[in-house]
Amino acid sequence: MSRSYYIAGNWKMYKTRPEAADLAKALVAGLRGGKHKYLVAPGFTLIETVAPIVKGTNIRLGAQNCAAEEQGAHTGEVSVLQLKDLGVETIILGHSERRHVYKEDDALINKKVKLALQHGFELILCVGETLDEREAGRAEAVCETQTVEGLKGVAAGDLNRVVIAYEPVWAIGTGKTATPEDADTIHAYVRQVIAKLYGQGAAEKMIIQYGGSVKPENAAQLMAKENIDGALVGGASLKTETFVPIAQFG
Ligand code: PEP
Repeated sequence: MSRSYYIAGNWKMYKTRPEAADLAKALVAGLRGGKHKYLVAPGFTLIETVAPIVKGTNIRLGAQNCAAEEQGAHTGEVSVLQLKDLGVETIILGHSERRHVYKEDDALINKKVKLALQHGFELILCVGETLDEREAGRAEAVCETQTVEGLKGVAAGDLNRVVIAYEPVWAIGTGKTATPEDADTIHAYVRQVIAKLYGQGAAEKMIIQYGGSVKPENAAQLMAKENIDGALVGGASLKTETFVPIAQFG
């Protein structure tokens, strides 16, 4: 089964509106005619600026998080209804910075996953182990738990709107990349977890991105691995000169 590649840029908490507009315009030009699936996820305050620039192009519009409730008295949170209103199509959930810095646990992430799917979004569910967990030989177990708990209650029919991103925490923003072999081992394991939950057919179709210091120099080797179906890119997504070559790898 051939899966198509999906390259996503997570702009994190970078850029002002003029900078975001410039980057989005340059990416639209740079990725025109590109053969893969693409996404940019600007910060919340930038979404309205970026939305008209990417509309109708081959770049999807993403958000980096959403609240676990549809709406209500949740100061400082952003609702799925507000994201939908801006034209957001995809929401990144369970990013390691959300899990480890902002202490989001699997139950909260699962609530967001179900809410996002209920509202018709595609989502990218991030999973990944810390360095301590890897050194303790627990990388697979951690990714399994995050996958199983994150997808609890998700119907098989909604799985085509779920992408998984394997992002080892020790590789995010550190310049350290998992070797293509190590990453592929975890991707294959996560695919087996999906097979156990939803069957082999669903597992074969599941897009599993790799994230963690992906750069133009390592993208092609990572993407060449059987179970690596794209990338979730942080730092290198902030510049056209680095994101476009990653997105056009090969
Ligand atoms: C990320 O933020 O998801 C990420 C992978 O960051 P970086 O590419 O900078 O390691």
